[in-house]
Amino acid sequence: MKRVRCPKCEGFITFDETQYADGQSLVFVCPDCKKQFGIRIGVSKLKATRKEEKIDEQENRQACGSIVVVENVFGYKQVLPLYEGDNTIGRRNQGTNITTPIETADPSMDRHHCIINVKRNKQGGLVYTLRDGLSNTGTFLMNEILGPKDRARISDGDIITIGATTIILREGEGIE
Ligand SMILES: [Zn+2]
Repeated sequence: MKRVRCPKCEGFITFDETQYADGQSLVFVCPDCKKQFGIRIGVSKLKATRKEEKIDEQENRQACGSIVVVENVFGYKQVLPLYEGDNTIGRRNQGTNITTPIETADPSMDRHHCIINVKRNKQGGLVYTLRDGLSNTGTFLMNEILGPKDRARISDGDIITIGATTIILREGEGIE
């Protein structure tokens, strides 16, 4: 399977490239914004998309770190940067404006599922705190569900589950 990015809303569309011959033109209609666009199989546009997909889990290490979204049947592996303050994590959806949207078809992930707060302590180090965003299916830290008022300290490598999707925290060094 391959994916292309909608030029209008930047949503991903997945397709089975083995169904088509090299050089064949395909037309897609974006399910999110209904934009119609074409690509040709096996030419530079597709290669460019593939190059973009090279992902580095540590790419935000000098800043505030990242979440790594583990690939599953609903979506590809993604690395999303975190910033100081509240980072709202949920399923990317047109019209929902959150800091940390995940590109996924996971129906059990809410659009505002959980929040990771990044704060500096007195020594200038970064402190990560996880809380549920009052989601329908709950937020799990190391397989334990968080209560509505829980504020859990999390650190590098901690595993968070939202819906059917697994997320790993990669801390940053917070170099300013
Ligand atoms: Zn679109």
